Amino acid sequence: MNFKNDIILAMDLMDLLSAYEVAEKVSNYINTIKIGYPLTLAEGLKSIEVFKENFDFNVICDYKVADIPETNSKIANLTFQAGANAIISHGFVGEDSVKVCVDVADNYNGEVFLLTEMSHPGAKIFIQGVADDIAKMGVDMGIKNYVAPSTRIERLSDIRDIVGKDSFIISPGVGTQGGNPKDTLKHADALIIGRSIYNSDNPKKAIANIIKSL
Ligand code: C5P
Repeated sequence: MNFKNDIILAMDLMDLLSAYEVAEKVSNYINTIKIGYPLTLAEGLKSIEVFKENFDFNVICDYKVADIPETNSKIANLTFQAGANAIISHGFVGEDSVKVCVDVADNYNGEVFLLTEMSHPGAKIFIQGVADDIAKMGVDMGIKNYVAPSTRIERLSDIRDIVGKDSFIISPGVGTQGGNPKDTLKHADALIIGRSIYNSDNPKKAIANIIKSL
């Protein structure tokens, strides 16, 4: 997957019309959007097609899939049937659960991003302790795409060391959560940015300023 301007818009607005309006304002700057539960639960899986058909965006579904293999299979199949290009899967659930997501993605020519460590403060309590092992598991499984935090650059760097320079890392936490875009791109291939863009009075100017700062 290639990411125009190294930015993925995290679209967590909860109505499709507002999301559409923001996407329209920034569509010249990006080619990839990430949607998650906020928009999908509010508006349905049809949200995926709206961004694909109107903007030709790649859509990454941040469903942080974290269930038993049989249930993961159902979630991943529904997501790719709806047109997603990629799905984000939690890694802590173990190899069997993640492998199902990879197998389903392969059937649709789609991709899986493996979530290693999360970006919020609470991630230090549990998931940080196993994040390196999650990344190692991903490498052993041949996974090429990872999610790692921009809010803790040293951890992002550690995870880069584990997954290697040929893997893709996309990194949330830039802007509102405190991550610095330029520093993050020293270790990651793309920034995931949500509120600093979609909550801005001028999303176009906000994204242009971020790009200028890189
Ligand atoms: O609004 P903000 O820029 O903080 O958005 C970050 C996005 O990345 C949100 O959609 C959030 O759910 C997601 N995310 C994250 N940390 C992770 C994985 C995903 O912030 N480790």
